[in-house]
Amino acid sequence: MEYAEHVIDLVGDTPLVKLNSVTDGAGPLVLAKVEYVNPGGSVKDRIALRMVEAAEASGELKPGGTIVEPTSGNTGIGLAMVAQRKGYHCVFVCPDKVSEDKRNVLEAYGARVVVCPTAVPPEHPESYYSVSDRLVTEIEGAWKPNQYANTSNPESHYHSTGPELWQQTDGRLTHFVAGVGTGGTISGTGRYLKEASEGKVKIVGADPEGSVYSGGTGRPYLVEGVGEDFWPETYDRDVADEIIAISDADSFIMTRRLAAEEGLLVGGSCGMAVAAAVELAKRCDPDDVIVVLLPDGGRGYLGKVFNDSWMASYGFLPPDSTDATVGDVL
Ligand code: PMP
Repeated sequence: MEYAEHVIDLVGDTPLVKLNSVTDGAGPLVLAKVEYVNPGGSVKDRIALRMVEAAEASGELKPGGTIVEPTSGNTGIGLAMVAQRKGYHCVFVCPDKVSEDKRNVLEAYGARVVVCPTAVPPEHPESYYSVSDRLVTEIEGAWKPNQYANTSNPESHYHSTGPELWQQTDGRLTHFVAGVGTGGTISGTGRYLKEASEGKVKIVGADPEGSVYSGGTGRPYLVEGVGEDFWPETYDRDVADEIIAISDADSFIMTRRLAAEEGLLVGGSCGMAVAAAVELAKRCDPDDVIVVLLPDGGRGYLGKVFNDSWMASYGFLPPDSTDATVGDVL
């Protein structure tokens, strides 16, 4: 019989799949690293596991302790899943703009969610940053992973994502493309691949137009999980050879093409990364091998990227292509 002892033993070792149609006939092989098959549904399971295990080893997180983090997204799910397995409590602090669905997911794993007003500046005592800082001091045995400054974030990719890719491609990949949020994925994976290939593998970041990594100031964009308005400590500026900026429209159109043409129901940052990979593929040699990382699945975005009215309201779709009504099909 072949089975895992526990769900956290299933983190990592994700598959690669060839992209066939969305590459629009570009020469090189483009392979997608499918991270939604992680047990918590995203690439963030990798960092959650390593951050918790490092804090256990250093004594920062003690048996029965409480993990406190200002997150509502994939990192929260990864942490909640790891905490459930290892017997820790979890408190997530998130702004009130976060959807009820996202809060429900965290609570389903047994976490507590504290909701704070969005419309206050970060230094305000009720902001979600201030509240999470206060909870860390007030709750006994509390530990804050801080994914933006925790070295275990890039290290998890240096020790897992990077070696997996090198092995899966038999050392033949020539380019690695990833969206940049905390920068953990690109910094850790990129550093490993540069070392393994003696500098030959090119590392390419994908960034929403307006974010700091591609020279912006943090102008709001709609793609979730990527782009920043500050430079996190987890981003190593020496790793990426190039950053490609992608618009919201191009990110979301590619996200929908991934579902419709490749059977990959994935999130908006995946469409962004693939749009960058396709742009790159068009100027590469036919025998190059490009790997693009797809961070999460698309189920969490059904009301946005995959909703015609939402897309049309931002001008991402022509107005006449909205959802069919019963009248249209009868
Ligand atoms: N896409 C999604 C959906 C994410 O949640 C994240 C993590 N913020 C990223 C991309 C970017 O990954 P990283 O933080 O490692 O740069």
